[in-house]
Amino acid sequence: MTTILKFGGTSVATADVIERVCRIVRGTPHPVVVVSATAGTTNALIGAARAAAGGDVVAVETIMARLTASHDDLLRRAAGKDDGEATRALEDLAQRTKALLRSVAILRECSARSQDAIVSYGELASSEIVAAALRSRGIAAQAVPATRIVVTDDAFGGAAPAFEETYARARTELSPIVGRGQVPVVTGFIGATREGVTTTLGRGASDYTAAILAAGLGADECLIYTDVSGVMSADPRMVEGARPIPRLSYAEAAELSYFGAKVLHPRAVLPAIEAGIPVRILNTFAADDPGTTITARAEADGSIVKATTSLGGLGLLTVQGSGMSGIPGFAAKVFDTTAAEGISVLMISQASSETSICLVVPADTAERLKAALERMLAKELAHHDVERVLVERPIAVVAAVGEGMRGTPGVAARVFGALGRGGVNVIAIAQGSSERNISFCVSEADQAKAVRAIHAEFGSSRPVPSAPPPASASSVR
Ligand code: ADP
Ligand code: ASP
Ligand code: MG
Repeated sequence: MTTILKFGGTSVATADVIERVCRIVRGTPHPVVVVSATAGTTNALIGAARAAAGGDVVAVETIMARLTASHDDLLRRAAGKDDGEATRALEDLAQRTKALLRSVAILRECSARSQDAIVSYGELASSEIVAAALRSRGIAAQAVPATRIVVTDDAFGGAAPAFEETYARARTELSPIVGRGQVPVVTGFIGATREGVTTTLGRGASDYTAAILAAGLGADECLIYTDVSGVMSADPRMVEGARPIPRLSYAEAAELSYFGAKVLHPRAVLPAIEAGIPVRILNTFAADDPGTTITARAEADGSIVKATTSLGGLGLLTVQGSGMSGIPGFAAKVFDTTAAEGISVLMISQASSETSICLVVPADTAERLKAALERMLAKELAHHDVERVLVERPIAVVAAVGEGMRGTPGVAARVFGALGRGGVNVIAIAQGSSERNISFCVSEADQAKAVRAIHAEFGSSRPVPSAPPPASASSVR
């Protein structure tokens, strides 16, 4: 019987909020804690790595002096008194990271491997601070680097975990600590190859670590504590009237996070689904709020579009030409080229006339993919079977998501009607065969306008009924 408690960057950033974290931990039976780096630290470390690669030693020193001072200060304030173990650990970490940055500055090149080692400072430091804060309140706690648990491949910057090995290690490393009545405070985001080289699982992946540990330990629940009261009907920074959604199915949550709802890492739901473990998104700053419960199936609540989400910084590639129609294997050629370039495609749409294929990819890969496609399709271009390969950017993908869309006639008409009235020009459309998602491309300048138009059409028209508060949140009062 364990509960995973994951605290994001803003939840570990000040002594006051760490006090809240400690109260939540104290109120939870057999907790396993997972922490992110303090807010802004991962970005600052990436900045330091880039500055080092550019030979800007002064910038590196400035960033590291600020980071180490703020971590030392946070440790003092959060733990209240000297914690020798954590002080020494922070000192070692700072020395190691500075040495890594010096090597990068000498070589003037920062590989993904070096960057992973550098950014691991963030989570390693925050786990020490939170463990010390718990100890200072009489809660036996121990920082545990996930490099001892999460075994990954060597795709630095976005490594894939080896699940079975990781699950086995989660049990051998963590169960004895929990069994002794201690709280393990595990680093999110990082792992290591079988050879012990530090890796990271991709930006925002501490949620993923939490879900992986939940599956490995067969936890009762995986509670993701953040700075908003659950998954909201839209990004609250973009839509003023966004409201928390009480219940989501795993599939809805996966679609939302895939299309940009930053509140949950896209891959975080999968290990939890497979293990049948409910995931809750809760607010560290308002721990009594009911938050969002994500379960295998969400019961129908009468809503159609539960949430509208968006992702900017993308490019749209269109392969156009009347001679493409009916050529078998043409789409395969396009996708093989994309795969060979190592570019991930976020959305695909093909008109039934088969005269164009549209691919949405990260904006900074669009020109490279265009060049690769032009090389691959040189013959077709010469014969005018393919007219041209076009790139439009920056564009955004907006997605309207909700199980209630399935089988409800007229949803697309309402979506596109609302966009038309809002003066948003839609560039391309795709609907997943699951029918729980309609996604479309707009120019990035129209991103917020499009989200607000759909949210106003579906989001504010029907109050979402609230769910009973989760037991774990109410025990923390
Ligand atoms: P953490 O550091 O706790 O992991 P993140 O910054 O990764 O937190 O995610 C929480 C943030 O996600 C919120 O502060 C909010 O601004 C943003 N966000 C974007 N879309 C949504 C959404 N649909 N619901 C809730 N939050 C969202
Ligand atoms: N610290 C990492 C990041 O900023 C992981 C996380 O916060 O989930 O991406
Ligand atoms: Mg996050």
